[in-house]
Amino acid sequence: MMTRLENPSVSIQDLSLNFGAISVLETLNIDVAEGEFIVLLGPSGCGKSTLLNCIAGLLDVSDGRIFIKGKNVTWEEPKDRGIGMVFQSYALYPQMTVEKNLSFGLRVAGIPRDEIAKRIARAAEILQIEPLLQRKPSALSGGQRQRVAIGRALVRDVDVFLFDEPLSNLDAKLRAELRVEIKLLHSKLQNTMIYVTHDQIEAMTLADRIAVMKGGVIQQLDAPQTIYNRPVNRFVAGFLGSPA
Ligand code: ADP
Ligand code: MG
Repeated sequence: MMTRLENPSVSIQDLSLNFGAISVLETLNIDVAEGEFIVLLGPSGCGKSTLLNCIAGLLDVSDGRIFIKGKNVTWEEPKDRGIGMVFQSYALYPQMTVEKNLSFGLRVAGIPRDEIAKRIARAAEILQIEPLLQRKPSALSGGQRQRVAIGRALVRDVDVFLFDEPLSNLDAKLRAELRVEIKLLHSKLQNTMIYVTHDQIEAMTLADRIAVMKGGVIQQLDAPQTIYNRPVNRFVAGFLGSPA
């Protein structure tokens, strides 16, 4: 059985999810430490996005509980969970400038103007998107759009970041670049990150620990080196060993 952490940032306990008669997630248990970078790695269809959406509150679980910072959020609204999410498709508002994309959610939440300006300035500096603030998403490259999407999570000042394959739509060069930036972002912010990918290289380079998933079940949850050197089964060995 898994070992529970003392004060986990995120704790997933016996989480199951069924779509009708089909079990998509089966009694998952993960404790994520404060400031930890966890990667959920597995082939397409194994349930990574479903798990992330449960943590975000975009999907109701069928069974089990989710704690964030010690609070049971299983039935909390997404906006009350203290999480920020970055999707594969950037989900930016096309009619708004980058600045408006960053500020929109904060204004809706009633955050004062000067505080919003401060947060946007900080995010723009960290992500190096200052020159882009007055542009519309249609005038940005894929990499720039994804920076803005990360910025939108960043300005929310959340404890936990959730990423769902944020680099999948980018070409190999940009992917490598943004991978480094996400790593830097994490070392700068020191917040908890749960990052979904099917890309072994992303998992190996970004993760403190990797949860390897197959068919809605976690096969192994360990540091990258441990998974690479001591895979618990054939599936994990094959998945990590196969070229991306
Ligand atoms: P991944 O992100 O790892 O590619 P998903 O979490 O998107 O996988 O999907 C896991 C499984 O759940 C897949 O078999 C998928 O077909 C199924 N699934 C996802 N969403 C739904 C839904 N709304 N209704 C029924 N089945 C779904
Ligand atoms: Mg997915």
